[in-house]
Amino acid sequence: MKDDDATLPGDPFMAYRGDTLFIDGCAAPDLAARFATPLYVYSRAAMRAALGPYQRALAGRAHLICYAMKANSSLAVLQTFAALGCGFDIVSGGELERVLAAGGDPAKVVFSGLGKTRAEMRRALEVGVKCFNVESEAELETLSEVATSLNRRAPVSLRVNPDVDAGTHPYISTGLKGNKFGIAHDRAVAAYRRAAQLPGLAVVGIDCHIGSQITEIAPYLDALDRLLDLVETVEAEGLRLQHLDLGGGLGIRYTDEAPPAADALIAALLARLDARGQGGRELLFEPGRSLVGNAGVLLTEVLYLKPGEAKNFCVVDAAMNDLMRPALYEATMGIVPARRRDLPAVVCDVVGPVCESGDWLGRDRLLGVEAGDTLAVLSAGAYGMSMASNYNTRPRAAEVMVDGDQAWLIRERETAAGLFRGETLLPG
Ligand SMILES: *Cc1c(COP(=O)(O)O)cnc(C)c1O
Repeated sequence: MKDDDATLPGDPFMAYRGDTLFIDGCAAPDLAARFATPLYVYSRAAMRAALGPYQRALAGRAHLICYAMKANSSLAVLQTFAALGCGFDIVSGGELERVLAAGGDPAKVVFSGLGKTRAEMRRALEVGVKCFNVESEAELETLSEVATSLNRRAPVSLRVNPDVDAGTHPYISTGLKGNKFGIAHDRAVAAYRRAAQLPGLAVVGIDCHIGSQITEIAPYLDALDRLLDLVETVEAEGLRLQHLDLGGGLGIRYTDEAPPAADALIAALLARLDARGQGGRELLFEPGRSLVGNAGVLLTEVLYLKPGEAKNFCVVDAAMNDLMRPALYEATMGIVPARRRDLPAVVCDVVGPVCESGDWLGRDRLLGVEAGDTLAVLSAGAYGMSMASNYNTRPRAAEVMVDGDQAWLIRERETAAGLFRGETLLPG
């Protein structure tokens, strides 16, 4: 991506006014000066705007949008989506506690994940989640035992692996036979029969989630068809599936991707559902990235320019521990100056201070910057802070939410002392 691209991903909430990058109504250089860097900044208006097309496309249908909070699980983000009527897709007991802390409604929570522990199941039953998305036949047995011991019936949906190719990166493709996720399509009917027999379970639905950063509608339609075939088979045996959960996975534009809009995707799915006479069922979606990805940036300060024979490096104060996507998936994310300057541009790799060659944020970028300037890594609202670590004993970044020209600190920067608070020296 060139730094003079007219529209940035996240526009109109991420846009230049003159030479200055604004996040909604807040100037990025001012935020960096006020809160220091590395700094995640999110636009609440951009999150609302991303949810809108989902809500409008589903208006008039029984539905629940469960924000897949692993994309960004900060409390103020959860609070934002809870206030807009969303439920949550969670993958751990820790995420459930976050939902509760943010004021989310547990009755709108679906609990996904292939390794739920008994303790997590117990807690989710006690607070009354909407549904467990069960990923194996063994999990059915354990969940039934846990529920029976509490004198409850656990509402369950089976996550079926529809064996469709979502056409995305292997690390974020989840709906193929070789993936660890879900119950194989050809085992699903038997699993439903077993679930119906177990005393601690109440079958309520069916779900799938075929991958992430999906930029086509076709894989969703394939998955829907595969799921509906199963629905028909299972219901012919007398079981009733109240809801159909099509997961998340819709992609966003990082550089030049052109994913379908959420409302176009949903319109296509609704048309297929109606054509098959299945349009009346409650529909669930679990979008993560598409609700928050383009609503956030990571601001980072240029520490050093390091010209070299083979490569020029731009060393910044954010690193792979703050933003793992480039190191983990070789993901390309836009990197632009917070304030454009009239400096000669050079092609450089934008790298962090962490002691790993994989610690880069961008490769071969044309940038005209000096030490002390602020850069913005774009589309960093999803799988950014939620994947951050403390590698190299680096305190995690602060987070700010903006709305119009207001900015709130929603997570304070960690301190080094805070990082080893729970550790003890040996006696002696
Ligand atoms: C990660 C995940 C999602 C969200 O995926 P996105 O690509 O962020 O939309 C939804 N459902 C499940 C089960 C997931 O694991």
